[in-house]
Amino acid sequence: MSGIVRISGGGIAASVLALQALRRGLRVEGSTWAPAASSLLASGIYNPIVLKRMKLVWRWKEALDELEALYGWVEDTYGSSLLEPEQVYQRLDNAQKLNEWEGLRADAPWSELLGSPMRWNVQWVAPVLRSGWVRVPRLLEFSQTLMKSVTEEPVLARVHCHGWAQGVRRDGLSERSFNPVKGEVLRVLLPGYEAPGIVHGPVFILPLGAGLYQVGATYQWDALDEVPTAKGSDELIRGLRSLWDGPFELVEHRAAVRPATADRRPLVGAVGPGEWVLNGLGSRGILLAPLLAAELLDQILGVGAPLSETDPSRFAGS
Ligand SMILES: Cc1cc2nc3c(=O)[nH]c(=O)nc-3n(C[C@H](O)[C@H](O)[C@H](O)COP(=O)(O)OP(=O)(O)OC[C@H]3O[C@@H](n4cnc5c(N)ncnc54)[C@H](O)[C@@H]3O)c2cc1C
Repeated sequence: MSGIVRISGGGIAASVLALQALRRGLRVEGSTWAPAASSLLASGIYNPIVLKRMKLVWRWKEALDELEALYGWVEDTYGSSLLEPEQVYQRLDNAQKLNEWEGLRADAPWSELLGSPMRWNVQWVAPVLRSGWVRVPRLLEFSQTLMKSVTEEPVLARVHCHGWAQGVRRDGLSERSFNPVKGEVLRVLLPGYEAPGIVHGPVFILPLGAGLYQVGATYQWDALDEVPTAKGSDELIRGLRSLWDGPFELVEHRAAVRPATADRRPLVGAVGPGEWVLNGLGSRGILLAPLLAAELLDQILGVGAPLSETDPSRFAGS
């Protein structure tokens, strides 16, 4: 099938969709409307486990397989590595947590995901084996360089990847589709801090390089704005303090809103003739976007049907 996939939006959804379309041999053009606040603030971590509850993420295996295949293709095709090497290490607070981890990892599917516990400072931590992170600003810039600017060529599909507020205002998505979640992060210098990777206790500490770390993130369902709060910073500093008792210097404190949906499932599919959306990625855009972008392209090319779980029309009329 020929024609251009015209992608509108400048965040993780638009960028990953562009890469997946190029991987299929399609041509893409794109327009960025404004900076992607949610994507630019994202720590970029992917992790198939909900660590607080030790539950597997929805469709984790398909999502990881597609993520690894996509970024492997980017590296082979363009020589650009977008995946960073650090894995997530979960803090195991006490003997019970340590035993639970050891018990789970004896059997599939956990044996594929849970690594051996090890000592880190005075605490126990253990790696999540198929986890990692993507430097999101680099992903966004890289995919923008591969998209043509808008042309007069015939358009196969227009895909709107507009995040929450504009998804409702412009894309015909029902307001009830969304249950957006504000999140705050800190950037800090941690002189003397050393860790085996991204440590997760009550918060993530993500090494950005040159002594700089991102500490995140909070989840707030009220005051859906991009204004950092004292409550958010207190929560993050308390979390940081439970993992690191050395010196720290605050560099930056920011907030954005995650485009999460009311039923925690994304929005992937048609919203009108030739018009499509990829939205509602919530707090797991990095993990889910490659799989969902591939499924959206299948729908556009007529080789895949919409899934009832992710079809945006499930909220129509509600
Ligand atoms: C604090 C915080 C930490 C996070 N950490 C992680 C993490 O570690 N891992 C993870 O996977 N996810 C994380 N997330 C979630 C992640 O950021 C989202 O899943 C992701 O950003 C959603 O991407 P998006 O492209 O759908 O939306 P957005 O990033 O909101 O991008 C939407 C884009 O569309 C553009 N746009 C809007 N309207 C128009 C229009 N009319 N025309 C053209 N363009 C338009 C906007 O300018 C913007 O560029 C985090 C989020 C927050 C807030």
